[in-house]
Amino acid sequence: MSEADEKREKEQIQLKALVELQKKDNDINDLKKSMGIIPSQIASGQKELEGKKSKLNHLQAEIDSLKKQRNQLEQDAKTEADHMAKTKIKLPAVKTNKEYTAILAETDAIKTKITEIEDKELEIMELLDAKELEIPGLEAEFKSEEAQFIQYKQKKETELARVRQELEEAQSQRAGLAKETDPKFVSHYDKVYRSRENLAVVEIKGETCQGCYQNLQPQVALEVRTGEKVHHCQSCDRFLYFIPEPEPQTESAVPK
Ligand SMILES: [Zn+2]
Repeated sequence: MSEADEKREKEQIQLKALVELQKKDNDINDLKKSMGIIPSQIASGQKELEGKKSKLNHLQAEIDSLKKQRNQLEQDAKTEADHMAKTKIKLPAVKTNKEYTAILAETDAIKTKITEIEDKELEIMELLDAKELEIPGLEAEFKSEEAQFIQYKQKKETELARVRQELEEAQSQRAGLAKETDPKFVSHYDKVYRSRENLAVVEIKGETCQGCYQNLQPQVALEVRTGEKVHHCQSCDRFLYFIPEPEPQTESAVPK
């Protein structure tokens, strides 16, 4: 093999290595993206569950407040009943009509107050019953969603661990590939990969660069197709490679 042939062959191997390097870099990017997405998926599930919990807490707080109001009303009713008893005790000792009328007016006022308290109590009891009825359903809903979330979180954490491991493997494979490749090639590749939307090695189709879709000089296209020389696209600076179309099957190629 002549020296020129040897150099050409070496360059073509380098070019193939760059294609592999790019595949690995793309894998690494995807894995990194997943590593970022998974925790936010868990967080959003957690937030949804907390929303359910706070709905339940809110309902419980309403119930507690209604119970407090009911207790207060019971207390008020007792106070008024005592007041009524104390007022009625005065009756046998009454001496004048005026005193009698005053006591009657007082007991009437107490009766009205007691009726008001009882009405309010009834209203609160009804509201309390309705709210308490909502609790079991909401609790069951929360429990079921909590169980679902725990499962989802476990699944996502397993996925995250797997992605993390895959990323580590891909990064170490990437380092191995880069080590085996000519540093000159790798450094140009790295520069273009970063500056050209993560695409540094592209195919040519016909005489067109598939990175920037500009036409290449016919001589350049020819040398890329024949593997004569490694070229960069003169427009976008990406490495160019060529994959031959599979030979169309002719009738004579099919064994009879
Ligand atoms: Zn180009």
